[in-house]
Amino acid sequence: MNANLSPKDIVDSGMCIGCGSCVAQSKNFKVQMGFDNFGHLKPYGPVEWYEEPSRDIMDTCPFSPESTKEDELAAALFPYSAQKNIAAGLYQNAYVGYVNQPGLRAKGSSGGMTTWVAMELLNNNLIDAVIHVVPSEKPDQDGDFFHFSISKTEEEILQGAKSRYYPTELSNVLKIIREEPGRYAIVGVPCFIKAIQLLRKHDQVFKDRIKFTLGLFCGHMKSSRLVESFAVQMKVSLPEVAKVEFRHKFPDRAAYWYNARLTLKDGSIVHKDWRYLNDGDWGAGFFMNSACNFCDDVLAETADVSFGDAWVEPYALDGLGTNVVVVRSNVVGLLISKGIASGRLSLAGVDGKFIARTQEAGLRQRREGLAYRLSWNNTKIKTKKRVDPNANIPLSRKLIYIVRFHISIWSSTIFLFSKTSNLMSFYLAWAKCALWVYYKVRGKP
Ligand SMILES: Cc1cc2nc3c(=O)[nH]c(=O)nc-3n(C[C@H](O)[C@H](O)[C@H](O)COP(=O)(O)OP(=O)(O)OC[C@H]3O[C@@H](n4cnc5c(N)ncnc54)[C@H](O)[C@@H]3O)c2cc1C
Ligand code: SF4
Ligand code: SF4
Repeated sequence: MNANLSPKDIVDSGMCIGCGSCVAQSKNFKVQMGFDNFGHLKPYGPVEWYEEPSRDIMDTCPFSPESTKEDELAAALFPYSAQKNIAAGLYQNAYVGYVNQPGLRAKGSSGGMTTWVAMELLNNNLIDAVIHVVPSEKPDQDGDFFHFSISKTEEEILQGAKSRYYPTELSNVLKIIREEPGRYAIVGVPCFIKAIQLLRKHDQVFKDRIKFTLGLFCGHMKSSRLVESFAVQMKVSLPEVAKVEFRHKFPDRAAYWYNARLTLKDGSIVHKDWRYLNDGDWGAGFFMNSACNFCDDVLAETADVSFGDAWVEPYALDGLGTNVVVVRSNVVGLLISKGIASGRLSLAGVDGKFIARTQEAGLRQRREGLAYRLSWNNTKIKTKKRVDPNANIPLSRKLIYIVRFHISIWSSTIFLFSKTSNLMSFYLAWAKCALWVYYKVRGKP
């Protein structure tokens, strides 16, 4: 057994994803989440909290080496989920498709299924509120473009639709859940859902009140610098930006052809396709949170239901967006079956292999890539993952993981340097070179 760790130990080891769970558990109002110099959210507080090793952190931080692993959590949560797949973990059913109800698919990032399930839970009186990520009303005053919020009506849930590749944290909403009795559903990326399940195991209040978890498949988390870089490349200043849309849909274009849009305070819009942004190749790892280098859950294996994009043809070509859905909870499974029967959902059953195929790149990075990164043995705390260290892979694969790792670190550092020295052209030139090197080792898409 490891000695207890403090929040500082997790942060210093590069394994803090910024979920806010540790902060939510503190009663000290000086303990808070905030952005670091690189645009990632981190816990802050007095030394006696920040540096104090604690058993609670060991049990509830999703990156603690001692916290219960996803397999074990899922086995306890979904004992009736009969199917098992290396990518999806335990599950009952899996589907590909989209929501058939007017507007919902168009509003969603993929097929709108996450918003549909959240609304169905509310409309069937199974919950009182949905906790998810919504745009901030006044980004310059709020200090962020997105945050977790509590939606209690269909309209509010719909307003929250779309994926936010932006740091957000749970401490404020967890404090509200503790103060306000109710039945809540939470939407989150896999490590946040794991943090929720660990908290539910640890604290009866969260167990009783958080009734459903809706997971999003996850490639990695970006820092807030991505939006800043978009603004620079679209030639607008950040304080002018009122709204950010990471994936604007064009029905007549392939779904994977992302278009980023910034709405300015004067109502005008600037936009650019990700492929024409110097740091717009998702897989290259620009601005990735370092904790993502140690992650082994792509499909939110501890969530009642998980949603992702169907990144295989012909679905990936459909600009309207198509979901893959992995169901683990009986209740959600029933809602979805009824939705299919009534024609409100266009979903076809698929197997775990199909789901894995839609996430091949993310799974390689979190299986083969993780095993290789673990073999470097360069972390301050000994982490235990569900894959073992392994450096026995072809040199061509090693080079991809090494370049991606360095892009993720150096993009943050060079962006900070360029920003503070008012030399953004330096970052942009570096990003172009970095992408060139990445394509040299990986091949151009
Ligand atoms: C950081 C990140 C990385 C992702 N990586 C992948 C990937 O590699 N492969 C893949 O197939 N899919 C990935 N997804 C999921 C994908 O982008 C879609 O969110 C998912 O397919 C659901 O689409 P939808 O149309 O059903 O959701 P929608 O109907 O658009 O609803 C999305 C819901 O998620 C909430 N939400 C948005 N962003 C966040 C966030 N950061 N944290 C918590 N809740 C949020 C919204 O508030 C809304 O309730 C990722 C999502 C995120 C946020
Ligand atoms: S990952 Fe979450 S719980 Fe762990 S130290 Fe970071 S903010 Fe705290
Ligand atoms: S890649 Fe893993 S650690 Fe990173 S945000 Fe996604 S689920 Fe969390």
